[in-house]
Amino acid sequence: MSEYRAPVTEMLFVINELAGLEELSRYSGFEEATPDLVEAILGEAAQLASEVIAPTNRIGDATGTRIEDGQVRVAPEFSDAYRQFVEGGWAGLAGHPEHGGQGLPFLINIAVEEMWQSANLAWSLCPLLTQGAAHALEAHGSDQLRTEYSPKLTSGEWTGTMNLSEPQAGSDLAAIRTLAVPEGDHFRVSGQKIFITYGDHDMTDNVIHLVLARIKDAPEGAKGLSLFLVPKRLPDADGNAGDLNGVNPVSVEHKLGINGSPTCVLSFENAVGFLLGAENNGLACMFTMMNHARLNVGLEGISIAERAYQRALGHARDRVQGNAAGHEGRVTIIHHPDVRRMLMTIKAEIEAMRAVAYVTAAVLDRAGHEPDSKLRAAYQARLELMTPVVKGWITESGQQLTSIALQIHGGTGYIEEAGAAQHYRDARIATIYEGTTGIQANDLVGRKIIGDGGAALTVLLDEMGQFGEQWNPGDELATVRDAYVAAVNELRESAAWLLANYKRDATIAGAVSFHLLMQMGLVAGAWQMARAADRAADKLAQGGQDKEFYSAKLVTARFYTEQILPRASAHGSAIRSGGESTMGLGEEQF
Ligand SMILES: Cc1cc2nc3c(=O)[nH]c(=O)nc-3n(C[C@H](O)[C@H](O)[C@H](O)COP(=O)(O)OP(=O)(O)OC[C@H]3O[C@@H](n4cnc5c(N)ncnc54)[C@H](O)[C@@H]3O)c2cc1C
Repeated sequence: MSEYRAPVTEMLFVINELAGLEELSRYSGFEEATPDLVEAILGEAAQLASEVIAPTNRIGDATGTRIEDGQVRVAPEFSDAYRQFVEGGWAGLAGHPEHGGQGLPFLINIAVEEMWQSANLAWSLCPLLTQGAAHALEAHGSDQLRTEYSPKLTSGEWTGTMNLSEPQAGSDLAAIRTLAVPEGDHFRVSGQKIFITYGDHDMTDNVIHLVLARIKDAPEGAKGLSLFLVPKRLPDADGNAGDLNGVNPVSVEHKLGINGSPTCVLSFENAVGFLLGAENNGLACMFTMMNHARLNVGLEGISIAERAYQRALGHARDRVQGNAAGHEGRVTIIHHPDVRRMLMTIKAEIEAMRAVAYVTAAVLDRAGHEPDSKLRAAYQARLELMTPVVKGWITESGQQLTSIALQIHGGTGYIEEAGAAQHYRDARIATIYEGTTGIQANDLVGRKIIGDGGAALTVLLDEMGQFGEQWNPGDELATVRDAYVAAVNELRESAAWLLANYKRDATIAGAVSFHLLMQMGLVAGAWQMARAADRAADKLAQGGQDKEFYSAKLVTARFYTEQILPRASAHGSAIRSGGESTMGLGEEQF
């Protein structure tokens, strides 16, 4: 039996009942995304994920990556899985139809992406970055660049990277020094980039780098950054990968996790590069792909927790240890209430996080396709507000959940052969790259809440509140509704406190931002769990199939509001106590 089985029923439930696929398929361009087609796509993706990609997960972790004669090499099994992925047409699922993509909603893409990530996170980063590069090229490339590069990125024949980080420029991209000197219709790019995921590899014959650099004599800081497309090999007269272009992998990092993916130091030596978008507008160009990229990395918290959960559940069903009330003889550990607590925690949090991430992915689709400009702007505001929450809250929770999954294994979990340790190690990166949790929290509080005086958050809180007021769930779920309504009100209090106090002291917003990020995530999770319970209760009342699935939804919703949601109150309380103690010590007192 495969090590990973995609939770297709759950994914379809979220896509259809919570994220509103039917509504999306009414938008021009999405007509083909019918429930039947989506079910078929998810079924086929699940097969590729479990049969082809998942078996490469342990291999990549053990093999790692290396440089040989100036060429980075990954596990050969990765190349084989990638070939099957490209041949199956999976790379262009949400790609632009003009360049050979299928143009399906991001909502569908995110479900399929979850499968690739669960199957092998290290492997999945290559197609994920390629999609991001294709998207940026689509948005900012000249006609000529798009003709030359977009079809090959969309099909996955060539792969893409994001080259931002330098030794002195991590979270602070304003410090980037890589230099671009104009030369005719192109630029010559020189400098060193670090931590570049799939910066070089041997799965395809070309790699297309998107590079943030500073044009000679451009202003200092973020306002002087421009975005460039720099290929590893320049296309020849037939458009195939031709001569090398002065982009050299210097080394690959030895890491805590995602060992199968090459994390490269890259040296750009007079490499030919082409400007994307306007000069000195590079950061804004990068930001157009940021929502996609951050939602996709937020998803990693779910994917890796799901894989860890499946492994832990298998262990809990097999491992015999101790006795349990009401059972003769020794029992499997799934009978122990504390093991149940751990399993329920992982299951309920994954369900909440998946629903929040998929619903936000559907908001991205709506923001791109809604014809009414007022509504479109409202969707865009919601997307901007929720993106740091999906990235920050879900990746933070994801690493906690992989830790709990390891705990379910007892000592075996600590031993590499059991596999639980790899998920724990792999999950750790997701809170760091694509903007650390601290950077997401700053974005949420600074740009997305204080920036508009709390307007977008108020719209969200009102919508959440309205659902609570109108929801009349009957006795079984009354406690879910009451806890949910109280949590929404507490979140409103936290936001009001922030808006009333942030001017008092310049450090307050930064000191409470993490707590607000987590509180928002937990409450948004409760909203979706309550909606899910509501839909499940309806389905049960109608009779029909999948009774066990829907009745489980009612229990996980209760568990979430009783056992997980109280954490939101703790974050609210930390916010209202302000940041004085956080900033109270002088630097020399540490
Ligand atoms: C495995 C791996 C793969 C990566 N892949 C890529 C890639 O493909 N392309 C790429 O360009 N980069 C990549 N990165 C780099 C990654 O994006 C950075 O590591 C990340 O942005 C953090 O930057 P830093 O490491 O310099 O940490 P720093 O910026 O030095 O941060 C250190 C700590 O300070 C905090 N901090 C910093 N500034 C602030 C602030 N203003 N407010 C609050 N807290 C702050 C951070 O939250 C963090 O906790 C990768 C990194 C790794 C480890």
